[in-house]
Amino acid sequence: MNHKPDAIIIGSGIIGCAIAFELTKRGYKTLNVDKLPTAGFGSTSNSCAIVRFHYSTLDGAQMAFENYFYWKDWPNYIGAVDNRGYAKFVECGFVIFRNNDPSEQNFLDLFAQIGIDYEEWSLEELREKFPIGDLHSFWPPQPVDDETFWEDPAKPLTGGIYNPQGGYVNDPQLATTNLMQAAQRNGGEFLFNAEVVDVRQGNGRVSGITLSDGTQIDAPVVVNAAGPHSFIINRLAGVEDGMKIKTNALRREVHHVASPKRFNFNQDGFVFSDADNGIYFRPETGNNILVGSADPACDPKEWVENPDEYQSQLTDQLWKTQVYRLARRIPELEIPTKPSGIVSMYDVSSDWIPVYDQSDLPGFYLAVGTSGNQFKNAAGAGHLMATLIDAVEKGQNHDVDPVQVTMPYTGVVLNAGFYSRLREYNTESSHTVMG
Ligand SMILES: Cc1cc2nc3c(=O)[nH]c(=O)nc-3n(C[C@H](O)[C@H](O)[C@H](O)COP(=O)(O)OP(=O)(O)OC[C@H]3O[C@@H](n4cnc5c(N)ncnc54)[C@H](O)[C@@H]3O)c2cc1C
Repeated sequence: MNHKPDAIIIGSGIIGCAIAFELTKRGYKTLNVDKLPTAGFGSTSNSCAIVRFHYSTLDGAQMAFENYFYWKDWPNYIGAVDNRGYAKFVECGFVIFRNNDPSEQNFLDLFAQIGIDYEEWSLEELREKFPIGDLHSFWPPQPVDDETFWEDPAKPLTGGIYNPQGGYVNDPQLATTNLMQAAQRNGGEFLFNAEVVDVRQGNGRVSGITLSDGTQIDAPVVVNAAGPHSFIINRLAGVEDGMKIKTNALRREVHHVASPKRFNFNQDGFVFSDADNGIYFRPETGNNILVGSADPACDPKEWVENPDEYQSQLTDQLWKTQVYRLARRIPELEIPTKPSGIVSMYDVSSDWIPVYDQSDLPGFYLAVGTSGNQFKNAAGAGHLMATLIDAVEKGQNHDVDPVQVTMPYTGVVLNAGFYSRLREYNTESSHTVMG
């Protein structure tokens, strides 16, 4: 084990592993440290891993579209892996239900500006592609115990927006393993079952980390990629007060339910954004449907003060909320009596846009606040972070002169300053998981 790394990365989720691979490509000796037993066992393993492009900001949509090409090119990007093989990108298409919300025009404008393929579907086309759907508008979403919840809807949806290149990645933990193996091939090292309890500094910059068993590991660069624990690591490093945009852990549930038998969701289904009804849903192995929350205003947010001690069992309330909403959209859905799904956490930033940045502590970097929407963007974010770290370590003052990052597939130049910890709260953001 190399205990003299050039860069320590706290966390071996999809973000930490992507940064490791990209830094090793630039000649850095990296060491990822994670308290869990292997890569991608944190919140990444519970990701719905949806790949979509309808972000509220131009930068967000450009980043998402760039990453589509990473997923298309995944085996080539990663290189050789062991017999577990590669995570697969299932390009089943993505459908946004329309109800005349003003955000729809913004999405269409951004798709046109960036050159993202889309089709506008009429209600009839939507009905043809999704014959099991009730295509009424349920806006605004209501809590399930509200007396109006089951009222007959009066208005139809107005159609759909279809992105043929949308989809999902079948195994987010395997995708993370792929990145870890790619980093290892370049000399990157990984230390598991190792909890960081201190971020040390000396001579005005970060100097290393201390583990719970007292081991000290020194490095001139330390990266916070600790997912929902990011705010704890920022406090250990003493950098949280210097961030205008902060991060917090948010509890989430995602549920699984069987598709009506007459519709083969895996073969004929799409990923659906159903903000009209407060949910999103996608195909899941075995003709199942996975349903998650689109963060409607009526649902309370479950902020987590201690990510090591949060309520990790499914709750009846959230199961009903999400599955009953899905049942309104798919009236033939049979609702099982026993809830099934996962409980996890998002690492949410103040404006639901990530912080990919340096910090006020020289040598300490932030890849945090992924806000439930950065699995898809991990490889591109790794490229952006590695470019930023390298530039800052070579003397660029990123706070004053933001690093510009040329993305490898689309050639777009992203201003890394968009993700600054010092930005004003981004008012263009949806302030939801949509970003
Ligand atoms: C339910 C759910 C659904 C999602 N769906 C989507 C989606 O459809 N599309 C999409 O793009 N994104 C989605 N996301 C978001 C995406 O999965 C996350 O943005 C991404 O996985 C975050 O990766 P990460 O590496 O930052 O965090 P993590 O995977 O949580 O990794 C952080 C790691 O840091 C380690 N760590 C923390 N503290 C310490 C410490 N003190 N010492 C050592 N190690 C430490 C943890 O053990 C963990 O392994 C979803 C997320 C969730 C939870």
